[in-house]
Amino acid sequence: MSRRYLDIAVDRGEAGEWMHTLVKELYPICRSITGDGFRRSLQILGERIPLSVREVASGTPVFDWTVPREWNVREAWVKDPAGRTVVDFRDSNLHLVSYSVPVRGKFSLPALREHLHTLPEHPGWIPYRTSYYREGWGFCLPHRTLESLTEGEYEVLIDSSLEKGALTYGELLLPGELEEEVLVSAHLCHPSLANDNLSGVSLAARLARDAMESRCRFSYRFLFIPGTIGAIAWLSLNEERVAKIRHGVVLSGVGDGGKFSYKRSRRGNAEIDRAACHALAATGDPFGILDFHPYGYDERQYCSPAFNLPVGRISRTPFGEYPQYHTSADDLSFVTAGQLADSLEKTLAILKVVENNGRFVNLAPKGEPQLGRRGIYSSPEQNEALLWVLNLSDGCHTLLDIAEKARLPFDRVSGAAALLAEHGLLREEKEPTCPSDSAARLSW
Ligand code: ZN
Repeated sequence: MSRRYLDIAVDRGEAGEWMHTLVKELYPICRSITGDGFRRSLQILGERIPLSVREVASGTPVFDWTVPREWNVREAWVKDPAGRTVVDFRDSNLHLVSYSVPVRGKFSLPALREHLHTLPEHPGWIPYRTSYYREGWGFCLPHRTLESLTEGEYEVLIDSSLEKGALTYGELLLPGELEEEVLVSAHLCHPSLANDNLSGVSLAARLARDAMESRCRFSYRFLFIPGTIGAIAWLSLNEERVAKIRHGVVLSGVGDGGKFSYKRSRRGNAEIDRAACHALAATGDPFGILDFHPYGYDERQYCSPAFNLPVGRISRTPFGEYPQYHTSADDLSFVTAGQLADSLEKTLAILKVVENNGRFVNLAPKGEPQLGRRGIYSSPEQNEALLWVLNLSDGCHTLLDIAEKARLPFDRVSGAAALLAEHGLLREEKEPTCPSDSAARLSW
């Protein structure tokens, strides 16, 4: 009876494989912030969860931005003076700078070099580069390949198109008992990179699947969007819906070997922020809590000052702090089923706290009620939780407040509340009814 909502038992082996298989299936596709690769990726997700696919026309103004032209690519390569293909988009979609304009021509090595990107410190890796909002073109290649190029004339072909089309995104709303929503957002605009972004996408998809099969108090809104412009477009087109968002998380970089980390919302002490700290401490595993900063993934948009939504970010090693970040080494071996399963469990633990949090009123507050007569005495640990809940259930303190104050695991506190409510000793309060006497409100 302890966890009433989002009561999901994770089978780590099965869930990890489910997510890793999805990452593998999405990995080869060339995605960008718009285009057919994004659509194909949503189609694959749609085979697992009932996504709605939305399109926003190129040129649509969204706050201070404009939805860009749609980018698609068919072929891109560089041939050396002997006519040998030295860089080919078909070998890796990272080879082409995303949003490269069409090019067909011959270039001397020095002129070509202006358009080549490498990582001298990791000579075997291909970097990932984009040129979304500045017209240009380029190729990314292992530094080793660059060093092997000889003087002479190089032939370049980029058969791409930048045309009026649409920005595409996927959305799924799962109605819960309340209209208030939990927002789960993941960006899906990177090509063959596993941790950033496919791990977050597959975790979000799995959460959606699990939430569909369990009882949820909140409604859940899942967004699979292109980074930055997608979040801005969604906010711009859904401004009236934003007020319904009670809690939210951005998921990205959740499959690597680092410890689980949570970045606070701009509010810093929103219920989701406190739930994350509490739930992660209860796991006994090492974890990181990062303060809000205005750089990162789409929490930047959800936490922009006009919205200031209670949206935190879930990652393992923060982006940019692992050498494989935005390189070809962020591949399928960098992300493991075990780490994905661990991220799922911890994300669920956080969401279970907000799902099951609430405030109650003790209906027998004069002295302690006689628990033995009602047969609800059990173990000493459970009794401790019962006494805390009875003492602090004044319509003002929430179960999370009580768990924090009592230093008890949230599920023990919520289990005690459920038991007391069953025996008519507690009544749930929808709105806080804090005693007017400020002395009645504990401070800690
Ligand atoms: Zn990225």
